[in-house]
Amino acid sequence: MQRISKAIVHTSSPLLLLRQIRDVMAQAMGAQARLDQVVEVIASGFTSDVCSVYLLRAGDILELFASKGLKASSVHKTRLQVGQGLVGEIAATAEALNLADAQSHPKFEYRPETGEEIYSSFIGVPVLQSGKAIGVLVVQSKEAKQYSPDQMEVMQTVAMVLSELAISGQLVDLQEIKQATGGLMTQQLSGMRLSSGMAKAVAVLHNPQLVITRYVASDPNYEREHFEKALRSLQESFDHYIQSAGLSDDDEQRQIIETYLLFTQDRGWIARMNEAITSGLTAEAAVKKVQEELQAKMSQLASPYIKERIQDLEDLSNHLLQVLLGKPVVANPQDLPQEFILVARTLGPADLLDYDHKRLKGLILEEGSTTAHTAVIARAMDIPALGKVEKATALIQPGDMVILDAENGNVYLRPSDQVEQALDAQIRSHAQREAEYEKLRSLPAVTKDGVRISLNINAGLFVDTQSVLQEGIDGIGLYRTELPYMTSDYFPDVEMQRALYAGMYEQLPGKRIIFRSFDIGGDKKVPYLQAGEEENPAMGWRATRIGLDRPGILRKQFRALIEAAAGRPLHIMLPFIAQVSEFDMAKRLFDQEMALAEHKPSVVNMGMMIEIPSILWQLDPMMERVDFVSIGSNDLMQFLFACDRGAVHMADSYDTLSPVMLKVVHEVVDKAQAHQVEVSFCGEMARKPLDALALIGVGVRSLSVSASSIGPLKAMIRSVTISELRTYLDYLTTLSEPSIRQWLAAYARDHGIIV
Ligand code: PEP
Ligand code: MG
Repeated sequence: MQRISKAIVHTSSPLLLLRQIRDVMAQAMGAQARLDQVVEVIASGFTSDVCSVYLLRAGDILELFASKGLKASSVHKTRLQVGQGLVGEIAATAEALNLADAQSHPKFEYRPETGEEIYSSFIGVPVLQSGKAIGVLVVQSKEAKQYSPDQMEVMQTVAMVLSELAISGQLVDLQEIKQATGGLMTQQLSGMRLSSGMAKAVAVLHNPQLVITRYVASDPNYEREHFEKALRSLQESFDHYIQSAGLSDDDEQRQIIETYLLFTQDRGWIARMNEAITSGLTAEAAVKKVQEELQAKMSQLASPYIKERIQDLEDLSNHLLQVLLGKPVVANPQDLPQEFILVARTLGPADLLDYDHKRLKGLILEEGSTTAHTAVIARAMDIPALGKVEKATALIQPGDMVILDAENGNVYLRPSDQVEQALDAQIRSHAQREAEYEKLRSLPAVTKDGVRISLNINAGLFVDTQSVLQEGIDGIGLYRTELPYMTSDYFPDVEMQRALYAGMYEQLPGKRIIFRSFDIGGDKKVPYLQAGEEENPAMGWRATRIGLDRPGILRKQFRALIEAAAGRPLHIMLPFIAQVSEFDMAKRLFDQEMALAEHKPSVVNMGMMIEIPSILWQLDPMMERVDFVSIGSNDLMQFLFACDRGAVHMADSYDTLSPVMLKVVHEVVDKAQAHQVEVSFCGEMARKPLDALALIGVGVRSLSVSASSIGPLKAMIRSVTISELRTYLDYLTTLSEPSIRQWLAAYARDHGIIV
């Protein structure tokens, strides 16, 4: 048995060691020469016989990249699989090993080309990036001696600096690392569709990994103060946020921020960062080092609860780094690529709107549900979006090429030529179709037998004015006024609303704009109006219900609309009406505002949405009161079939093309005709050509859809003969089938209808 020396192995001060490394880095030389000098410096700092650096290459192979002490001929030759030998074990577990007698370790593997059998003591630490080992740093000595925990700490600090240098391309070619971590191979991730479409662009991370350029401290005292100041400033900003946002005690947002505040006082966490500063790192490098260690720990954990806590700490580290580096959360717009796909763990609507929507081509979220605010806005922006894409922020690097196929719920990372070609073909055929639709722009939406269909556009935040102004578009059939409310931190005042609505009139001269009064609440929560916890928010305190309970809010919106119209026609639509009496009450509020108005609209048309089934048994009294109605199938469908519109696992349970839905629409159309009231259809169903074909077939003559659906709808309308279709649909609606989709699709094929 070997005698283990108790003598402490001399290590020059960590600070000195780090400074020597910094000096090497400052010299102009190639990556290999630099790495060779770094291992020299470390070996001498540890007075050890060997210092080696292994880096990960493609296929999970660890290659000896530089060594002081092992045979020079083994550099770039000795290779180990992750999990193989001591070095492989460290990379696999992302944990350090400190052994006095390395050869007695079960994982020890003798590599004759290195000549390492003569070395006994071994200390190896992982070089971490985002919690994953991208290499291993090893120090070995002939003497069987135990390295102290302090020395282990120094090794970890040096490894952290190596990791930063490696990832900034200063040690080895960056492509090499990307290749090793799977970074150059096509990877397919999947998620849940929040907004449909396809896009190809480079990735931008919402909260990008912050790049550190100073690692080695010149003055640890300064670094400690810098760190403490940043921590205080972070705590103050959390405090300030809670105060200024006026969050109540039981507000979920407040609870999250308070948890974060508690974490900023976590002694263990702070002590770890202070230790790193003492060992010679700058404040930011210290935060990064502890963050890396947490990430490595997280990948080994099974408990979701602890994982979540660590994730919080990691988040907090990012905030702290931002303060230390003085970086804003959202990248400078000028620094963003011309076209990009945004990747985030989670994203608030306001954050999304901070990005230039002309450049933003898609959105990938790790969290997110179809009803989340951000999803509503992504749809309003007409960009493809996926939610529930696991580990998206860890796997996608800024600048990676990404193909987002929201139609099929897939993300292709760094697509290979083959994948790109296959998807390009899809994107191209999509573009070709778009070009065909473009040709229809100047043509009216008239059927083959001369029936004109009114086409309108659904809008909210961004209005594609070019689309609304095109030939055959009557105007905006649904202007969702709540979207601007959702992105504001406080209730928009009358002037702000007036300016917004007046802007719409000015941008769209001569076009009809149907302003829907706010439909906040439910899935469209606004931060400044708390409904309290609701078990079923979609059926809760929302829309006109809020307006009638808080008449001041609704009156303000009416006032803003009346003032904005100023001599022009005003069309207002009330959402979520369950009883005609609610319409009457809202109308009274409107009349009160009208009476006070100095400059009245030229005409006022007041209508309502058909979204709640109870109204279907009040069709006569309803039609007597309104100037127009619009069918909102998104809500109507979920209440008719008792099927949450946001529940992905239920999405295919009921078809919009069910005889039930069509009978309802048919009945509404008949009643409206009898009362000479205009019926339009503004739910999502109308944007699919086959569904719209059925709607036209049962008598709907006005559709309102997102701008991108106009082309396909025009193509369908211009290829159909309504008189024939009507009879067939009358028959289909008598069927007891859950869906008539197949029948109708066959009819369209047989009659050359473009759907
Ligand atoms: C609807 O319910 O169909 C509708 C158009 O309104 P929203 O999607 O805004 O609830
Ligand atoms: Mg609705």
